[in-house]
Amino acid sequence: MGMRDGDGWVDCNCGFRHWGLFGAAGLLLVRRDTPEPKVLLQLRAAWTHGGGTWALPGGARDSHEDSVAAALREAHEEMGIEIDVVTVKHVFSDDHGPWRYDTVIAHTMSDAGAHIANPESTETQWALLDEVENLILHPGLAQSWASLKPLTHQTLID
Ligand SMILES: [Zn+2]
Repeated sequence: MGMRDGDGWVDCNCGFRHWGLFGAAGLLLVRRDTPEPKVLLQLRAAWTHGGGTWALPGGARDSHEDSVAAALREAHEEMGIEIDVVTVKHVFSDDHGPWRYDTVIAHTMSDAGAHIANPESTETQWALLDEVENLILHPGLAQSWASLKPLTHQTLID
């Protein structure tokens, strides 16, 4: 275990403040043992940043971590994801300059043990790809979903 040194806000060129001194990363986990592929979402607790919206598990990257390590660690902490049943397929980088958010697209052939594992979320769901845009999404996910959706489809063909 390394130091948790990534917690903090960055004032970004885009005019917003973002969480994660070294950027942030999230896991877009695709379940492939169901008739149609489904993606894992968590409903963020009301007290959190972006509370009451559906988001990917994720958070601040630490200085010693790459994006994949950060995304998997956060997914394990927040949703109990069993990392050894997850296969990483693609990393989508939303680079703002001083800050970036990397979304790690990965596959699993089970529910990967997903459950509410810490107080940051109040509900979890596996959503069909076409259902995601109909949910009330966290602003970051809402913005990137148009890019993430076709990339996720691509990982299912490769
Ligand atoms: Zn920004």
